[in-house]
Amino acid sequence: MVIDLLKEIDNVLNHISSFRKILLFSDFDGTLAAIKTDPKSVRLSKKGEAILNKIIENEKIITGIVSGRKISELEAFLGSHISENVNLFGCHGSEIKFEGAEIRIAKEAEKAQKTLAPIIDFILNKYNKVSGIIFEKKENSFAVNYRNLKYSDKEKINEMKNDIIEMLSKYPVKLLNLKKVLEIVPLDVDKSLAIKATMDKYAEMLKSFSHVKICIGDDITDENLFRENIDGINIKITSISNPGTSAGYFLKNISQNYIFLNKISAIT
Ligand SMILES: [Mg+2]
Repeated sequence: MVIDLLKEIDNVLNHISSFRKILLFSDFDGTLAAIKTDPKSVRLSKKGEAILNKIIENEKIITGIVSGRKISELEAFLGSHISENVNLFGCHGSEIKFEGAEIRIAKEAEKAQKTLAPIIDFILNKYNKVSGIIFEKKENSFAVNYRNLKYSDKEKINEMKNDIIEMLSKYPVKLLNLKKVLEIVPLDVDKSLAIKATMDKYAEMLKSFSHVKICIGDDITDENLFRENIDGINIKITSISNPGTSAGYFLKNISQNYIFLNKISAIT
């Protein structure tokens, strides 16, 4: 059963406070910022910005933003102050940028880079003319956003899905069926890479500090965070009463998440 986090908030906060370090991993779209019809018009609200600023000032907390977006986009949405003081994981974990370091590509993503090219060529050739679809080539993945597709063209997406599925067997890639987005990503890449890379990066420090991991997200891809964080606290952002999730807790929306994050920011 998934528990309503706000009903258990005092117990959960007491538990979190008992650790010396808090490793926070949060998705961006639909978790920190509201989803918009045009994915480029998404903005972090003033309130979200204020809460993240409080979180990064709290030395107990190590923050990671884990998104399907490119790191360059996350940086633009978060602003330089926040993005320079958190760890960023883009393209579902294939791009990694620790605080103060350069962007690097996860080794799991490197080998798949070349194999994406023929798939992208095929999809663009066949579907380029369908209006209402935004194609996005990322460093290590290829996304098809069909939020603005006309209803009468919806069969095109099923056709595209089938085309992609047929190609999957030939290449080391997989298809993510997201909210109005299809994305082809390297086979071994998922958001759990963010946790693994973080645990590596801070291994020395975490030897001498007790720590707890908190993962928050609203997408199917965030389930990989939850499964990797099996002994930690996992929170699904969802308005569905019985969500299929590996998370132990749920929050109904971004506003409730802000309430939670605001409390986390004040933990001493
Ligand atoms: Mg999301």
